[in-house]
Amino acid sequence: MKSKISIIRCLDYEPSLVQEAVRKSIDLIGGISSYIKPKAKVLVKPNLLMAIQPEFGVTTHPEIVRAVVKLLKEIDCRIVIGDGPNVWGKQIQNIDRVYDLTGMKRISQEEGVTLVELDKRRWRGKFPLSTLLDECEYLVNVPKFKTHDLTTLTGAIKNLFGLVSGTYKTELHKNYFEHKDFAKVLVDIYQEVKPNLTIIDGILAMEGDGPATSGKLRKQNLVLAGSDCVALDAVLALIMGIKPFDVMTTKEAASRGLGKADIDSISIFGEKLHELGAEPFLLPATSILRTKIPKPIVQIAKQMIKYYPCVERDNCITCAACVQACPQKAVSIKRKKIAFDYSKCISCFCCQEACPASAIKVKKSLFAKMIGL
Ligand code: SF4
Ligand code: SF4
Repeated sequence: MKSKISIIRCLDYEPSLVQEAVRKSIDLIGGISSYIKPKAKVLVKPNLLMAIQPEFGVTTHPEIVRAVVKLLKEIDCRIVIGDGPNVWGKQIQNIDRVYDLTGMKRISQEEGVTLVELDKRRWRGKFPLSTLLDECEYLVNVPKFKTHDLTTLTGAIKNLFGLVSGTYKTELHKNYFEHKDFAKVLVDIYQEVKPNLTIIDGILAMEGDGPATSGKLRKQNLVLAGSDCVALDAVLALIMGIKPFDVMTTKEAASRGLGKADIDSISIFGEKLHELGAEPFLLPATSILRTKIPKPIVQIAKQMIKYYPCVERDNCITCAACVQACPQKAVSIKRKKIAFDYSKCISCFCCQEACPASAIKVKKSLFAKMIGL
């Protein structure tokens, strides 16, 4: 059977427009009751990567979350909203500040639903995952459509990484720093906790060196919905102008039979896919090697093509989020300046992801520059 997904246009985050678009996206694939049982307890999981306001386009917009909550309320669900962003020490970023700045606190108060912390965990399969997954009968995934310097795309599958509790996320980055290994970890998580429904905020998307402040905002004006995260990510890849299998999580998940990545196996309702991807996304510098260069050349040149983080000093506010985020302890502050120890760096770009000031950029090895990457 084909996987059903919907794509709906939504021009901005005006609440009534968003509510109409989210409702339509779910109605076109069978309606909310086809996925969530009335009166059930539901965990709504947005992407709240960092403590930053919605207009920066880094986090799921609160009006998307509100629209999802309103639909769940119509079928009398008991709703909790939560995410598990990395918290870099209480002074730099704590969960209260994340919920406040991203607009989740306001939405939860106005809609009368509970904001929860995902700090309690239990081992499920290979990972310590939030116990909220045990307490809630349903999981509704509400990601943001962005590029990602480690995984090329962060959409439906990658958003579930926030369910891994606490500092264990850093451990996973440290232990599985090869892209293909990290993709397997993300797919293991997806396999363990498949969401019942996913609604993607693709109104203000991100291209370039995402997923945080170093990425470039891009008005894409879309809301997507479905229950097959593999199919959703495959369609996001096509909108970006790349092949679905260029995204390793999609390739890995499809190879395990966890969803459909072949466009002929996906029924798309709403907008026509071929009318959406006119201008390809600017890809993260680190992913050009994975997506644009033929594999035999990559194998030969792999050792010479390297990417490292570097700091734009004018932007740096010496907040130390990058120091806290680095799984290798390769970042330090010396005489009020950020310094990298490249002998320890594994190019995971957690430092760039944590930077609130767009101060960490991608530096290329000489060979990478010479061949025009
Ligand atoms: S580079 Fe970014 S994260 Fe690191 S100290 Fe500067 S502003 Fe903070
Ligand atoms: S310096 Fe940045 S890219 Fe290098 S290991 Fe640390 S977090 Fe990862």
